Amino acid sequence: MAALSFPFSSIQAPLLRAGKWSCSQIPRTRMNLKPLGLSQIGILAPIRRGFSSPRALADEEAAAKAAAAVAETGAPTIFDKIIKKEIPATIVYEDAKVLAFRDINPQAPVHILLIPKIRDGLTQLSKAEPRHAEILGHMLYTAKVVAEGEGISEGYRIVINNGPSACQSVYHLHLHIIGGRQMKWPAG
Ligand code: 5GP
Repeated sequence: MAALSFPFSSIQAPLLRAGKWSCSQIPRTRMNLKPLGLSQIGILAPIRRGFSSPRALADEEAAAKAAAAVAETGAPTIFDKIIKKEIPATIVYEDAKVLAFRDINPQAPVHILLIPKIRDGLTQLSKAEPRHAEILGHMLYTAKVVAEGEGISEGYRIVINNGPSACQSVYHLHLHIIGGRQMKWPAG
């Protein structure tokens, strides 16, 4: 079935203003109306985030919960395919431990995802154990390096969505590096 896309400003912004959009408070720039089966949620939940109706938008919370429900099965995520270069991504930084690439649905002029190449149980930050301290530190330092490379050192935001109530949709730990425009606070 064909997917339909609309500009963010025409449809999503009014819904945000109306308070009907709880799980997209980091709003999505495009709306994808393609329906998905439950089996696809783990891989494609992020793309489900943009929907057409308030009811469907409310379903984003359910989608996030569904993604969380399968998070501990060990199933690969879309990020595994990016790491293996099985699907394309615009990679901006890579070393032996981490990979940084542009978000497919950017929320700002610069929106990069930074992930560990080996998940090692880090489906989400709350799963971190002492052995993960090194990779977590490396990720944070690398975020600074990536931000420099993007020319946004003057101001940027690092985001980790942890769990369904934060609308995490890909269960492979990732930092969002967001910048290139004036950020608002408090965050949604
Ligand atoms: P989360 O909501 O889990 O914190 O963030 C997941 C992010 O992954 C979302 O911002 C979403 O746009 C991004 N994403 C999902 N699928 C893909 C993909 O196939 N390629 C890229 N580059 N980003 C993706």
